[in-house]
Amino acid sequence: MNEVFDFVIIGSGVAGLYSALNFPENTKVLLLTKKRVEDCNTNQAQGGIAAAVDEGDSWKLHAADTLNASASLCEEEAVEILTKEGPKEIKRLMNMGMEFDHKNGKIDFTLEGAHGKRRILHAGGDATGKKLREFLSEKVGKKKNVKIVENALVLELLKNNSGRVNGVLALEDGIFKFYKARAVILASGGCGALYESTTNPDVATGDGIAMAYEAGAEIMDMEFIQFHPTALYNPKGLSFLISESVRGEGAILLNEKGERFMPKYHEKAELAPRDVVSRAIMSEMKRLKTPYVWLDATHLGSEYIQERFPTIFKTLMKYGIDMRKDRIPVAPAAHYTMGGVKTDTFGRTNIPGLYACGEVACTGVHGANRLASNSLLEGLVFSHRAVLSAQREEMESDDEVEIQKIMQKYENRSKMVSKAKEIRRELRHKLSLYAGVERNESDLRIFLKWIKEKNEGLEEGWNEDIWKTRKALTVGALIAKAALLRNESRGAHFRKDHPESKKEWENFHIITTNKGG
Ligand SMILES: Cc1cc2nc3c(=O)[nH]c(=O)nc-3n(C[C@H](O)[C@H](O)[C@H](O)COP(=O)(O)OP(=O)(O)OC[C@H]3O[C@@H](n4cnc5c(N)ncnc54)[C@H](O)[C@@H]3O)c2cc1C
Repeated sequence: MNEVFDFVIIGSGVAGLYSALNFPENTKVLLLTKKRVEDCNTNQAQGGIAAAVDEGDSWKLHAADTLNASASLCEEEAVEILTKEGPKEIKRLMNMGMEFDHKNGKIDFTLEGAHGKRRILHAGGDATGKKLREFLSEKVGKKKNVKIVENALVLELLKNNSGRVNGVLALEDGIFKFYKARAVILASGGCGALYESTTNPDVATGDGIAMAYEAGAEIMDMEFIQFHPTALYNPKGLSFLISESVRGEGAILLNEKGERFMPKYHEKAELAPRDVVSRAIMSEMKRLKTPYVWLDATHLGSEYIQERFPTIFKTLMKYGIDMRKDRIPVAPAAHYTMGGVKTDTFGRTNIPGLYACGEVACTGVHGANRLASNSLLEGLVFSHRAVLSAQREEMESDDEVEIQKIMQKYENRSKMVSKAKEIRRELRHKLSLYAGVERNESDLRIFLKWIKEKNEGLEEGWNEDIWKTRKALTVGALIAKAALLRNESRGAHFRKDHPESKKEWENFHIITTNKGG
């Protein structure tokens, strides 16, 4: 055993950092993150954090908007907790010194799709996630009881004989490290980067979901992947997100012919729920045979654009697009994982000692469609609750980790890398094609057959590439199996062969387990 801690946290996004901040000084905490601390979805968040902080707003109105967007799949208790406790966490952050943007001495709330009120707090204009991550990193950095290790890829959750998670196996600079703990907090984010077109950074590969599944955790609602309607169309690589708040401030969507099309699809036009906007864009793209539509913000005013959207403005300039006078080519891209490791409202999974919070977790708070800017808030509220609950865990004296037994799996080192990498590349393409914005039964069956063949064909033995590929195939299969089973359309899950929502699927979650785990 390399080291013993009270708690091990996996991930350095909002959920991981806020967990680390909230564990009391008398606990020994280890935070492991697979690249640098800033490599996480949190750092990319632009629009802001939704919370009913303004005088004319209330948690009930925020909860109602969240439920409306969820397409009858939210867990109402979790939504109540999110919206009630959210403002308290925001005020707590502000008391600690976190600065949100102000205008004329007041918080400058913005509006986003499917919110009935201007309740989105933002920081640094459109750099909310970066500002929040920097703020939390600085606070955690001052805590003497927290050790952060970067470039630490967690490979496995360890369990004792009674089935309790009591540590992790990580790979740090090519060296295997075993850490023992009273409890493990999984804050490893979603799986958007497994798709070909995505707004997520490359760390978002759903490792935590795959590891938890293999350890026997229940995985819920994996068919629900949110596609952001307006990612920059970039045929050469990673899509860059054009925040919903650009539409919130008045930008409109136009098709190739220059026609505004959203009003014919939804009464809220450009501010309709994300799944509606994504499908409307896909439909216009198909109809006019173009790989993108246009987002037009030119009427918002040159000064206002630069002041309100500095990050988007500067990034687009690098691509040769001046959003003050040019229309922006956009297309939908995988953005957010609504499903994940099933937890209760205190982050507890079905495995003793294993907690999950943030995007990796599924409390049911987003239902079939996440309301914009609810996820940073979720990271704050539910990581805090997980920390409160995890502190009740005791270190079990007989919790010995059978290191030799575990290491047998990693002894046979494979030198073959190219096949595994190629499979991951193909997986990204196939996931987008067969389990993307639109799905149908035959495509999903073809895709699942392909995953099975690739898994069987992948060489025995171990190396980092084979590990990553197996994890990616596991998550791909979890998405496809759930998407196949849910033979209806709801929220972000659209089945071309079953375009209608079915009463019997309402409030019904698909939960998958690996019984052998
Ligand atoms: C472009 C973009 C814009 C967004 N805008 C908004 C917004 O305006 N408002 C909003 O509320 N939400 C927004 N979101 C969503 C939001 O940012 C995320 O849902 C949220 O930040 C997730 O936080 P997290 O802590 O759960 O995960 P992340 O921030 O993704 O962090 C996960 C961490 O786990 C680490 N990790 C993963 N696997 C392993 C492993 N095997 N070993 C070790 N470490 C591992 C990663 O490296 C990373 O540090 C946006 C997302 C994107 C991509």
